[in-house]
Amino acid sequence: MYDVIIIGAGLSGLTTAYSLNKKGINYKILEARDRPGGRINSLDGPLEMGATWLGGQHTHLLQLLKELEVEVFPQHTEGKISYEVSAYQDIQYFDFPPGQAPSYRIKGGSTQLIQSLVDHLPKGSITFNAVVTNINDCGNSIEVKLRDSSSFEASKVINTIPPQLTIQQVEFNPTLPSEQVAIMEQTHTWMGESIKYGVSYAKPFWKEKGLSGMAFSQGGIIQEVHDHSNFEQNYYALKGFLNPNLVQKGEEGRKEEVINTLVRLFGHEANDFLEYSEHLWANDPFTSIKGSINVVPHQNNGHKLLREEAFNGKLIFSGTESSLAYPGYMDGAVFSGLHTAQRVLEQYQSAPES
Ligand SMILES: Cc1cc2nc3c(=O)[nH]c(=O)nc-3n(C[C@H](O)[C@H](O)[C@H](O)COP(=O)(O)OP(=O)(O)OC[C@H]3O[C@@H](n4cnc5c(N)ncnc54)[C@H](O)[C@@H]3O)c2cc1C
Repeated sequence: MYDVIIIGAGLSGLTTAYSLNKKGINYKILEARDRPGGRINSLDGPLEMGATWLGGQHTHLLQLLKELEVEVFPQHTEGKISYEVSAYQDIQYFDFPPGQAPSYRIKGGSTQLIQSLVDHLPKGSITFNAVVTNINDCGNSIEVKLRDSSSFEASKVINTIPPQLTIQQVEFNPTLPSEQVAIMEQTHTWMGESIKYGVSYAKPFWKEKGLSGMAFSQGGIIQEVHDHSNFEQNYYALKGFLNPNLVQKGEEGRKEEVINTLVRLFGHEANDFLEYSEHLWANDPFTSIKGSINVVPHQNNGHKLLREEAFNGKLIFSGTESSLAYPGYMDGAVFSGLHTAQRVLEQYQSAPES
């Protein structure tokens, strides 16, 4: 039996594990995917398919990065911003507005943070391909069952699966209070509907034309573009978000429209790309629910019922959507991870000697 089972090896679950590990608590992380990181996923390059930017206000994340000696660098913004009203009108060009707070990226990709956390945990701390389906209160302990019918037992369980997905994927016995279930069902999974794409190039041709690589379009498929060259300046890419309604269109169709739009925004050189990548988070079974429940961005993020304990305090809900600070963001994931570890440690310290 474990002291603690953490469900989910995303930033929140790993931050909790990192904190508990320092205090010698015996834990196990159960992760449904075959990789850690959840909504953080850097491809080669590194090209971010998930979380990318942070700001000076994200103090919990910055402190963790500092402790782990993972460095950041400013997002490239020098040069003109391109703006397309429609595919039939000329592109307009703007200067970056002065006085904007800078945003930063993680050197080597956001996955560096995840890898550093994993490297601080003993080998074997995470069981991958472990899809949790049931959480049962057994009185003095909790049983966690997986899709393959295997099960684990612990004194405490920390769940970091996004709240909406938790309700769709996991059966609780006894059931959770209906008020808590209703809030969890109506909680937006931050960026869960987004389509992220990236296109790599042999050289940063946009910079050579005095363009920043930043663009906004109301003309169709592309919503935003940003320069995504790496810190070392030996990998060049443009990256951004597509219109989320394009989930049904095939990858080839999206790719063709993306390249056509990039040609309009930055010039014919955009045709000579090396690689096109994309990730449809709405179709990702370990981030987004099947079907849709209408919620607006950030709906119920940070709601107190998302942190409500169950099963007499043995079951703790965590993860960025539950966070008191910057819910939805990486900073929220770190805050919730640290806060949850603190709650567990306090409960251990106040428990009577047996
Ligand atoms: C496209 C996109 C762009 C983003 N951009 C930014 C950004 O620029 N800046 C920023 O601050 N934030 C950004 N975010 C948000 C950021 O990624 C999240 O705040 C953070 O990664 C959440 O961490 P988490 O651990 O709380 O949740 P998750 O990363 O979702 O982790 C939950 C974990 O639970 C696992 N899991 C799910 N179901 C099960 C199951 N049944 N059994 C076991 N495990 C399960 C998942 O596989 C996952 O690893 C972005 C997110 C996306 C999707």
